[in-house]
Amino acid sequence: MTEISDPTVVGAQASVAKSRLVVIGNGMAGARAVEEILDRGGAELFDITMFGDEPHGNYNRISLSNVLAGSEETAGIFLNPLDWYEQNDITLRAGVRVSAIDRYAKTVDADDGSTYGYDKLIIATGSRSFFGVSCCSRGSVKRCVQRGSGGHRPLSESIARAIRASGL
Ligand SMILES: Cc1cc2nc3c(=O)[nH]c(=O)nc-3n(C[C@H](O)[C@H](O)[C@H](O)COP(=O)(O)OP(=O)(O)OC[C@H]3O[C@@H](n4cnc5c(N)ncnc54)[C@H](O)[C@@H]3O)c2cc1C
Repeated sequence: MTEISDPTVVGAQASVAKSRLVVIGNGMAGARAVEEILDRGGAELFDITMFGDEPHGNYNRISLSNVLAGSEETAGIFLNPLDWYEQNDITLRAGVRVSAIDRYAKTVDADDGSTYGYDKLIIATGSRSFFGVSCCSRGSVKRCVQRGSGGHRPLSESIARAIRASGL
């Protein structure tokens, strides 16, 4: 178990007056929760660190279909660009995945080898799409996933698909 006083635990030296808030997941839910916390005066109360395993700021995932269809630019779907984190004194660990939580020591381990101590933890890790079965039947109707179909969830995946579809 990692001790909070361990000097390798990033954030362990946070200001005495503020609690350490760690948010795992930099999607729409995680970022919206932080916006609300800030609106309610949370900047005075918390040193905020957000982990998101996608390598950018928060974006509107619902608009990924528009990006894929080519009707919306990638830049237009960002809700919280990197500036927003800086302006609000939020430490954004973009592209870093949390791999373990130690609830007793109140620490999270990240896949870059760092360990962060927390006083409050928000887990907003969302979900991933997957296709478990290729065909299913309801009554006499059989439906199959068409060849070439797939889910698209991270922005990077949608952009890659859009590029492939455009033949570039
Ligand atoms: C194409 C598309 C269209 C949609 N359309 C609609 C719609 O019309 N209406 C609607 O209500 N909903 C829609 N949805 C669903 C909606 O986008 C999701 O419900 C919403 O994005 C969920 O937000 P979230 O923050 O909870 O999770 P997510 O968006 O999944 O975000 C979670 C984030 O946490 C990160 N993460 C996960 N685990 C870790 C970890 N261990 N460490 C660090 N980071 C981690 C993920 O990479 C991700 O960035 C749509 C989704 C898609 C993909």
